Amino acid sequence: MSHTHSDCYFCGGEVEEKLLSREIWRDGQLIIIQDVPTGVCAQCGEKFIHASVAKSLDKILAGTSSPRKTIHVSVYAFT
Ligand SMILES: [Zn+2]
Repeated sequence: MSHTHSDCYFCGGEVEEKLLSREIWRDGQLIIIQDVPTGVCAQCGEKFIHASVAKSLDKILAGTSSPRKTIHVSVYAFT
């Protein structure tokens, strides 16, 4: 699934679609969504998400599907 992106809203640069991971905190839980189609500006690096992609992310965050895998994350306090 590929999306076309208009030029960067901020600098007018070319926006290329890449599959990126997104880390989202929800209710104190870290959720990682892999391979999210994300438009990335080649000039300034600004990221753009298509409305249809955002909708799919919402669906995943609603918790209706099971995760691909579950990983354990270690958390340290900086001392
Ligand atoms: Zn830009």
